Amino acid sequence: MPSQEQEQRQQHLILAENIALLSRLVQAPTAPYDNPRPSSAAARDPGRVLSFDTEVCLASTLAFLGSISDDPCHVIAVCVEEVPSTRSIQVVVAINKEWPDSQEGVLNRIQHGLTVVLGRLACVSEAEEAQVQESVIDAVADMCRQRILARVRSRRPDARYHRKKRQHAWLGSLLQRALEAVGRQGDRSLSLADLDTFKRRARRLLASLELLESCHEKDVHRHILAVLRAAHRLQSTGRVAAILSAIPTTDMEPTAVSAAAARVEKLARYWECSVYLVGLARSLGIFRRAEVIPVSLGPELFARDATPVPPDCLERCVERCKGRIAPLGFPRLEEIEKRLVARASLAGYVRQLLGTAKVHAEVQIVCRYELRPAAVPPRVICSGKNACYLCNLFVRLHGGGAYHLPGTHGNLYPGWRLPRHPSLQRTCAQLNRALEARVREALPRSLGPTPAPAAPARCGTRTRAPCFLPCRRSPRWPAPRRRRALAAKMPRRGGRGSRR
Ligand SMILES: [Zn+2]
Repeated sequence: MPSQEQEQRQQHLILAENIALLSRLVQAPTAPYDNPRPSSAAARDPGRVLSFDTEVCLASTLAFLGSISDDPCHVIAVCVEEVPSTRSIQVVVAINKEWPDSQEGVLNRIQHGLTVVLGRLACVSEAEEAQVQESVIDAVADMCRQRILARVRSRRPDARYHRKKRQHAWLGSLLQRALEAVGRQGDRSLSLADLDTFKRRARRLLASLELLESCHEKDVHRHILAVLRAAHRLQSTGRVAAILSAIPTTDMEPTAVSAAAARVEKLARYWECSVYLVGLARSLGIFRRAEVIPVSLGPELFARDATPVPPDCLERCVERCKGRIAPLGFPRLEEIEKRLVARASLAGYVRQLLGTAKVHAEVQIVCRYELRPAAVPPRVICSGKNACYLCNLFVRLHGGGAYHLPGTHGNLYPGWRLPRHPSLQRTCAQLNRALEARVREALPRSLGPTPAPAAPARCGTRTRAPCFLPCRRSPRWPAPRRRRALAAKMPRRGGRGSRR
């Protein structure tokens, strides 16, 4: 009878094989979708200060602010744990890691930046709201400086961001083109007052962007603040997307229009996040002893298995996926090998994955709470982007859906693995069964005359077009009307004097 250790190794090897084969069949095993809000979300938990919706909003706000780098290797996830003994919170942050100490520098910078932001929120009852607001946006601009310069696509020599993004247009030039084109479209649904306000505020943002591009390094921070304020003022008109999308394609190509709208919206969000956090600090007083905890799992959890990959791994994989009775149209092994993937190629790929795969940030957070259960465990894990297919599947299966992820972009990243821990073994086996079922579904289609269409979303609603590169998604920020409803629902703990 195999020992628990052997069983664990076997399951991890099977997991790598299943992931490798599925990734050869489909790049995005599902279309993007939002996970449905759990039925328990509506229930009021007397042991918690945060409602479910506030926890989603807070975690996604902090994940957005914590995404300080545009490097695809620096994907983070955040959860918020309530600490009843101090009536405060712990913000737990993880980053995708290949080894226990991977990306430590970035993680430390995020921890420091968020600690400063939370520290400024802690003194909300001792200062004027406007003063706190100013000091919070100041800390946000400082922490997110490089990411903001990346969103602007700044040409400054001290702006450090992904080389490929430097080929994209500077936001100022997009705005300049939009300003020249706006008003020529003759769209009768746009009022003159809306157009005037748009032009005035867009010119203001353009002027701030120009100053940011040309200023001395010591003034960058001040000009970033001006850009964020101007972007917020422009976005708060609520008509940016409508006005930009009415520009004729002969004046401005649709990709440039959508890039301008998305970047203005992201820049404005830094300001909105600061306003939201200050409001939350005043109403709930949860930041007074707030801490930021980076997830640091022990090296044993990152241990890699030296088990040799069997040369017949394709046969093993196909046999498992076929099940006891092969479904109608299930291809023969020879056909799969001839048309999809050679045996040696799959075995080599599995070996490569076992040696280089990463433990994604969401998985690290789940694992952390397995090792250190909390009195009031977090219910929500948010990332700087939507979760990948495997993280979403893993979190949904683990612990009967103990955690909620807002959604998935549906893409499968084959360099994904689980930490070696007995508490994850059951989920690993469930994950294998789910992946085998998905391979069973995808194999006949992959051998068909036309490429396999993406499978329909299993639950929730499809909301975004699929993207095929690791992408940064916006935080799940509710629409203004929804936000007001959430704010109204937040439990108020009496007046200023009653907060500790
Ligand atoms: Zn992931």
